[in-house]
Amino acid sequence: MTTTATAPGLLRDTVETVPSFVQGSWWTPPAGSHDSAVPVRDASTGEILARVSAEGLDLGAAIEYGRTTGQAGLGQLTFHQRALRLKELANYLNARREEFYAVSARSGATRIDSMIDIDGGIGVLFTFGSKGRRELPNAQVVVDGPVEVLSRDGSFVGEHIYTRIPGVAVQINAFNFPVWGMLEKLAPAFLAGVPTIVKPATPTGYVAAAVVGAIIESNLLPEGSLQLVSGSVPGLLDVLDYRDLVAFTGSAATARTLKAHPNVVHGGLRFTAETDSLNAAILGPDAVAGTPEFDAFIQSVVTEMTAKAGQKCTAIRRAIVPREQVHAVVSAIGARLEQRVVLGDPRAQGVTMGALASVDQLTDVRAAVQSMLDAGGELAYGTLDPPSVTSMDGGTGVTDGGAFMSPVLLSWADAEAEQVHSIEAFGPVCSVLAYRDIPDAVRLAARGGGSLVATVCTNDAAVATALLAGIAAHHGRVLLLNREDARSSTGHGSPVPHLVHGGPGRAGGGEELGGIRSVLHHMQRTALQGSPNMLTTVTGVWHAGADRNFTLDTEGTHPFQKSLETLRIGDAVQSGLRRVTLEDITAFAQSTGDTFYAHTNQAAAEANPFFPGIVAHGYLLLSWAAGLFVDPAPGPVLANYGLENLRFLTPVAAGDSIRVTLTAKRITPRETDEYGEVAWDAVLTNQKDETVATYDVLTLVQK
Ligand code: NAP
Repeated sequence: MTTTATAPGLLRDTVETVPSFVQGSWWTPPAGSHDSAVPVRDASTGEILARVSAEGLDLGAAIEYGRTTGQAGLGQLTFHQRALRLKELANYLNARREEFYAVSARSGATRIDSMIDIDGGIGVLFTFGSKGRRELPNAQVVVDGPVEVLSRDGSFVGEHIYTRIPGVAVQINAFNFPVWGMLEKLAPAFLAGVPTIVKPATPTGYVAAAVVGAIIESNLLPEGSLQLVSGSVPGLLDVLDYRDLVAFTGSAATARTLKAHPNVVHGGLRFTAETDSLNAAILGPDAVAGTPEFDAFIQSVVTEMTAKAGQKCTAIRRAIVPREQVHAVVSAIGARLEQRVVLGDPRAQGVTMGALASVDQLTDVRAAVQSMLDAGGELAYGTLDPPSVTSMDGGTGVTDGGAFMSPVLLSWADAEAEQVHSIEAFGPVCSVLAYRDIPDAVRLAARGGGSLVATVCTNDAAVATALLAGIAAHHGRVLLLNREDARSSTGHGSPVPHLVHGGPGRAGGGEELGGIRSVLHHMQRTALQGSPNMLTTVTGVWHAGADRNFTLDTEGTHPFQKSLETLRIGDAVQSGLRRVTLEDITAFAQSTGDTFYAHTNQAAAEANPFFPGIVAHGYLLLSWAAGLFVDPAPGPVLANYGLENLRFLTPVAAGDSIRVTLTAKRITPRETDEYGEVAWDAVLTNQKDETVATYDVLTLVQK
């Protein structure tokens, strides 16, 4: 293997082969094989920036290194420790953004485009850095859902757990988001504990390589948790098997080829795809010119046509508008484009829309538009001729070598034309289509065959409800825009890490992001059966029916006096019985103002199908329970921050008694604080040992 000792040279402004980072070292093809390397050019000037080749790279060894070294390194960290690394990495990359913007500008990206890609990617790291610590246990196994009792005596129970897959996550990315595309997949894989192998698209892989260089320099990720393959690797899936996962983003054509690979079809290799998408924006009949919804619609369409020069999988390709609004929409979009777009080299002052990523890309988009024109589309704005642009030195004119294209708006006399619903022109291109009524709008949107996202602009709740009912199942995300959220919305084109990104059908059927959901996609769900004691031991979470340690009896210590270090799951305390009187219930009703008839009116309470007569307030019982289990002396328990899963199961009447049993169920030390969370299983029972209420008490406890 040939290795280079340094990170990608592009950060140092020299023309080199973009290196891969495999098996812990930077790698470029052996001398002599550079001739086959693909040249990559500056999108605005055509100047050769770098060459890309993975010829001679030992993919099998890289995968094996991930499965062994990468798995081992990540396996030493809990979810919280991994989440913390993501946060530290986000901070580190944040401080180096200017370097990345400079590299990204070479791909035709304006500063705002670069921010969408780079800051957007760093934002995903921040989100998972925080969600991982808030929503996952400080452990390596996720226990999912409630316990199912599978035997009469409770000695055999079952539940679901998630553990990380044992292989690598191979992430094949599209050219348009070299950084966001990489980080939005790396973050959930890393949090799950699965090593990543990034395979960026050749045309902009140098941007991803620059960021990977910085990540490696940060020294924050365990060895083997991230590898980079720069250059085309048609044999990549040959070396993967059922232990691994491929998360693909790119064209539907490539997805089809990869999905048919024998290791996917026969070998059980996990494969998900995010592919192209003919996203729609629908203007409601109420949103006529002059309304805030009309303005939001025009603004969304223009933003999506021009941001990243329209090279966004989420861009609006079809603006679906009421027949009588077509003219107003076309002229408003045209006017805004005229006003907003300054086309040129993104490094020049005042430029608002940059070049496409490559001349090949430009050729493809022009050809796609030509096919649409041939099929009946009409140019309502823009041209296919080479546009006049601002060059880096500030001059204007038509340039050679740059991949510039004017924004193009098409109108269609026939909204049924097949091509407008099937051709994705992956550039600054959008079509305006007329609809007759709401069912017609739904039908046209659905003709995209499954899309990533649709925006609906309306302030009429009935219109929004009808459109949503029709289009939701055809889309991965729906944005409802009206005057209330138009300004605060994150926009049509921006997936957010908290919510699912992906769509059915043509969009690939994949599902990325969506918070912890996407972490679980990197883990195997396993049904686990056994005794409560065994499940308690293997999951680290106390299960009802497992042994308890009543620490007052065995250690002479109330569990509230045990610090996080000494507290063990199963440590418990049980109170004596306390009798409830009618006076207690009446006093509670009077002091709280909760004089609901079931607590105050014997005849009305008796008529209620659930109560024997006047019953105690559930909240009275909870308050009493706290009084029964609490240890009043100052100690390591700092605060009670809530209750979870509260259920009242058996009413308590005057004359009944209650007792509480409190058991340490889940202990979650925090990585960065001197305390952690303890969830206590609380069970209230009556004098007949019937269960009155169950819930979890959430406390903060000092380490
Ligand atoms: P592409 O040509 O399909 O390439 C996508 C990736 O697949 C590239 O990294 C490419 O590497 C790789 N690849 C191609 N053949 C391969 C093989 N046999 N084995 C392994 N990897 C292989 O797509 P693109 O032109 O980069 O991206 C544009 C498309 O992506 C558009 O259709 C857009 O809608 C879609 N997209 C979708 C999303 C989404 O989230 N749904 C996001 C962004 C883009 P090389 O470049 O080295 O060939």
